Amino acid sequence: MDPIFNWILMDVYPARGRLKHIARYNQDREDVDTNPSVPRFAADRMLARLARWLRLCGADVSFDPCVGGADLLHAARHENRIVLTRDKRLRTAPDVFCLGSDLFREQLREVLQKFAIDPARAALTRCSQCNTELRDTDREAVRQRVPPFVYASQDRFSVCEGCGRIYWPATHRERILAELLRIARAGQVGS
Ligand SMILES: [Zn+2]
Repeated sequence: MDPIFNWILMDVYPARGRLKHIARYNQDREDVDTNPSVPRFAADRMLARLARWLRLCGADVSFDPCVGGADLLHAARHENRIVLTRDKRLRTAPDVFCLGSDLFREQLREVLQKFAIDPARAALTRCSQCNTELRDTDREAVRQRVPPFVYASQDRFSVCEGCGRIYWPATHRERILAELLRIARAGQVGS
């Protein structure tokens, strides 16, 4: 079966704030967790959008808008992460992937292609806001934390234990997933 059919779009309810973002409920989570070949990244502070979208692809991406330059390199090496940056001065440093484009979609395509990341396998398992992996949660456990109409209409919920956001299936996020697939497939061309 095409993996696309396994994807379930989800909406999210932050612990404090408004509805936003998506997640995916999938059965591949344990495989992703234990696969040592899956690279981990540290995104330069200029790459906030890229970091969020790589997280939507299931990639482990640290991002801190207050950390850059040598501090970013040091932190990334300490955590065994590959630095993603547009800073050409870092081009020759080990464990650094210097992006060639200023355009977000091109940047995402570059990373997906270089590191053979497959969004169809791991997408939407990680909180795009804080990088924490999502955990399935019991419906009753979130009853007091989501709007009544959401509780009444949804059967599945996931929670981010990092920032407290709650995710659930929704059907109005297709365009985000479609964009993710389009970018991923374009990245496979010529690879
Ligand atoms: Zn989170």
